[in-house]
Amino acid sequence: MSDCIFCKIVSGDIPGDIVYQDDDVLAFRDLSPQAPVHFLVIPKKHISTINDFQPEDASLVGKLFLAAKTIAKQEGMDESGYRCVMNCNDDGGQTVHHIHLHVMGKRQMTWPPG
Ligand code: 5GP
Ligand code: ZN
Repeated sequence: MSDCIFCKIVSGDIPGDIVYQDDDVLAFRDLSPQAPVHFLVIPKKHISTINDFQPEDASLVGKLFLAAKTIAKQEGMDESGYRCVMNCNDDGGQTVHHIHLHVMGKRQMTWPPG
Protein backbone atom coordinates (compact mmCIF):
# COMPACT_ATOMS: atom_id res chain seq x y z
CA MET A 1 0.00 0.00 0.00
CA SER A 2 1.67 3.20 -1.21
CA ASP A 3 0.87 5.51 1.73
CA CYS A 4 1.53 2.96 4.46
CA ILE A 5 4.61 3.67 6.59
CA PHE A 6 5.19 -0.02 7.41
CA CYS A 7 4.91 -1.04 3.74
CA LYS A 8 7.62 1.56 3.11
CA ILE A 9 9.84 -0.12 5.71
CA VAL A 10 9.18 -3.47 3.97
CA SER A 11 10.17 -1.99 0.59
CA GLY A 12 13.20 -0.17 2.04
CA ASP A 13 11.84 3.26 1.09
CA ILE A 14 12.22 4.34 4.70
CA PRO A 15 14.80 2.86 7.04
CA GLY A 16 14.02 0.48 9.86
CA ASP A 17 16.24 -1.07 12.50
CA ILE A 18 15.51 -4.59 11.29
CA VAL A 19 16.01 -7.45 13.72
CA TYR A 20 14.53 -10.32 11.68
CA GLN A 21 13.07 -11.11 8.31
CA ASP A 22 11.97 -14.06 6.23
CA ASP A 23 9.78 -14.46 3.15
CA ASP A 24 6.58 -13.42 4.94
CA VAL A 25 7.54 -11.49 8.06
CA LEU A 26 9.64 -8.45 8.98
CA ALA A 27 10.56 -7.25 12.48
CA PHE A 28 12.15 -3.95 13.45
CA ARG A 29 12.69 -1.90 16.58
CA ASP A 30 9.92 0.52 17.57
CA LEU A 31 10.80 4.19 17.00
CA SER A 32 9.36 5.08 20.40
CA PRO A 33 10.21 2.11 22.63
CA GLN A 34 8.02 1.47 25.68
CA ALA A 35 10.46 -1.03 27.19
CA PRO A 36 14.23 -1.62 27.01
CA VAL A 37 13.48 -4.07 24.20
CA HIS A 38 10.52 -3.18 21.98
CA PHE A 39 10.17 -4.43 18.45
CA LEU A 40 7.31 -4.82 16.01
CA VAL A 41 6.63 -7.98 14.01
CA ILE A 42 4.64 -7.38 10.83
CA PRO A 43 3.50 -9.39 7.84
CA LYS A 44 5.22 -8.16 4.67
CA LYS A 45 1.79 -8.23 3.04
CA HIS A 46 -0.39 -5.25 3.92
CA ILE A 47 -3.26 -6.13 6.26
CA SER A 48 -4.85 -3.10 7.96
CA THR A 49 -6.30 -4.49 11.19
CA ILE A 50 -7.06 -7.75 12.99
CA ASN A 51 -10.58 -7.36 11.57
CA ASP A 52 -9.12 -7.88 8.10
CA PHE A 53 -7.56 -11.27 8.85
CA GLN A 54 -8.95 -13.97 6.59
CA PRO A 55 -8.94 -17.72 7.15
CA GLU A 56 -6.13 -18.02 4.61
CA ASP A 57 -4.00 -15.74 6.82
CA ALA A 58 -4.03 -18.28 9.67
CA SER A 59 -0.51 -19.57 9.07
CA LEU A 60 0.78 -16.00 8.59
CA VAL A 61 -0.62 -15.04 12.01
CA GLY A 62 1.20 -18.05 13.47
CA LYS A 63 4.42 -16.94 11.77
CA LEU A 64 4.24 -13.56 13.55
CA PHE A 65 4.39 -15.38 16.90
CA LEU A 66 7.09 -17.80 15.73
CA ALA A 67 9.20 -14.77 14.72
CA ALA A 68 8.42 -13.10 18.06
CA LYS A 69 9.75 -16.03 20.08
CA THR A 70 12.83 -16.41 17.85
CA ILE A 71 13.73 -12.75 18.29
CA ALA A 72 12.91 -12.81 22.01
CA LYS A 73 15.50 -15.57 22.36
CA GLN A 74 17.99 -13.58 20.25
CA GLU A 75 17.43 -10.63 22.58
CA GLY A 76 17.96 -12.83 25.64
CA MET A 77 14.51 -12.33 27.12
CA ASP A 78 12.82 -15.65 26.38
CA GLU A 79 13.28 -16.90 29.93
CA SER A 80 12.77 -13.58 31.75
CA GLY A 81 9.59 -12.99 29.73
CA TYR A 82 8.02 -10.47 27.46
CA ARG A 83 4.67 -9.10 26.38
CA CYS A 84 3.04 -9.43 22.94
CA VAL A 85 0.29 -6.93 22.07
CA MET A 86 -1.67 -6.33 18.90
CA ASN A 87 -3.89 -3.25 19.00
CA CYS A 88 -7.04 -2.93 16.88
CA ASN A 89 -8.58 0.36 15.78
CA ASP A 90 -9.13 3.45 17.95
CA ASP A 91 -10.20 1.98 21.29
CA GLY A 92 -7.42 -0.57 21.01
CA GLY A 93 -4.89 2.24 20.51
CA GLN A 94 -3.91 1.35 16.94
CA THR A 95 -2.21 4.27 15.19
CA VAL A 96 -0.57 2.50 12.24
CA HIS A 97 -3.02 0.58 10.10
CA HIS A 98 -0.71 -2.20 9.00
CA ILE A 99 -1.07 -4.88 11.63
CA HIS A 100 1.89 -5.37 13.92
CA LEU A 101 2.68 -7.41 16.96
CA HIS A 102 4.39 -5.34 19.66
CA VAL A 103 6.95 -7.41 21.56
CA MET A 104 8.30 -5.75 24.71
CA GLY A 105 10.63 -7.02 27.38
CA LYS A 106 13.57 -6.51 29.72
CA ARG A 107 11.35 -4.85 32.31
CA GLN A 108 8.52 -5.98 34.58
CA MET A 109 5.16 -5.38 32.85
CA THR A 110 2.10 -4.31 34.79
CA TRP A 111 -1.52 -5.34 34.50
CA PRO A 112 -4.05 -4.02 33.62
CA PRO A 113 -2.60 -1.97 30.75
CA GLY A 114 -3.59 1.70 30.50
P1 5GP B 1 0.09 1.15 17.39
O1 5GP B 1 -0.19 2.38 18.19
O2 5GP B 1 -0.50 1.26 16.00
O3 5GP B 1 -0.25 -0.15 18.06
O4 5GP B 1 1.68 1.10 17.24
C1 5GP B 1 2.38 1.78 16.26
C2 5GP B 1 3.82 1.77 16.68
O5 5GP B 1 4.61 2.10 15.57
C3 5GP B 1 4.14 2.79 17.77
O6 5GP B 1 4.67 2.12 18.91
C4 5GP B 1 5.14 3.73 17.12
O7 5GP B 1 6.16 4.14 18.01
C5 5GP B 1 5.69 2.89 15.98
N1 5GP B 1 6.09 3.64 14.81
C6 5GP B 1 5.37 4.60 14.16
N2 5GP B 1 6.05 5.03 13.08
C7 5GP B 1 7.22 4.33 13.05
C8 5GP B 1 8.33 4.33 12.16
O8 5GP B 1 8.39 5.07 11.17
N3 5GP B 1 9.35 3.47 12.44
C9 5GP B 1 9.30 2.62 13.52
N4 5GP B 1 10.36 1.83 13.71
N5 5GP B 1 8.26 2.60 14.38
C10 5GP B 1 7.23 3.44 14.14
ZN1 ZN C 1 1.17 -1.54 4.88
